[in-house]
Amino acid sequence: MAALLKRGSRGAAVRALQELLNRAGASPALLVDGDFGGQTETAVRAAQDRLGLVVDGLAGKQTVTALHRAIEPANPSRPEPDKSAMQEGVSGAPADRVAVRPPPNVGALKLLDTARPISEIIVHCAATPEGKDFTVGDIRAWHKQRGWNDIGYHYVVYRDGRVLPGRPVGQIGSHVAGHNTGTIGIAYVGGVNTDGRTAKDTRTDRQRSSLLWLVRELAAKHKGVRKVTGHNQYAAKACPSFDVRLDQLGAIV
Ligand SMILES: [Zn+2]
Repeated sequence: MAALLKRGSRGAAVRALQELLNRAGASPALLVDGDFGGQTETAVRAAQDRLGLVVDGLAGKQTVTALHRAIEPANPSRPEPDKSAMQEGVSGAPADRVAVRPPPNVGALKLLDTARPISEIIVHCAATPEGKDFTVGDIRAWHKQRGWNDIGYHYVVYRDGRVLPGRPVGQIGSHVAGHNTGTIGIAYVGGVNTDGRTAKDTRTDRQRSSLLWLVRELAAKHKGVRKVTGHNQYAAKACPSFDVRLDQLGAIV
């Protein structure tokens, strides 16, 4: 269902959309007739509003992705780390400088556009132990267990430097209370010591390069971006386990 569906669209793709809207809780339920009329448009708008998307009544890639994510069950195969155990405070000297390098999966990575105005990029860690790999699927399952529609972050940077899309950027994230509107949330895998509780800047050089690259690309794409901050500037939390203001990341925009 790659094409943009809108009022007047017809056919199998519209039927699939109507079914998806019903499964995602369209009320009243839509007649699945393959005809994108006023009721389908109303249901698309209601779903977009509920999911934090731009409410335009058009069903494009981001709306369809968000609907699919909203109906996926949460099946964590590994338990979510207990972030409340993560001790506050950022220790250690600022990390050495690294060169900005594209992520190893740059060829497969598509940074989506959005009509949602973006003014800030907020950096997080996944609060997972040093030296261990976790996936977007793991984090998505943990966040869905909290009752969210999808993973809270828009992008996740793996330990090997790959950048993976999380929640579609057109959808408001869930990463900093009171600062989700107008922001993009990015997270790196890691952020605590092997004990699972002590905050630690565990970024690998590849992660640091990819974070720099990602922030630079996002700032170029979303013209309103004026600052790059860390979660710990808004909450009494250690996340992302370093001070963005003292890091290369804080000097990009
Ligand atoms: Zn955070």
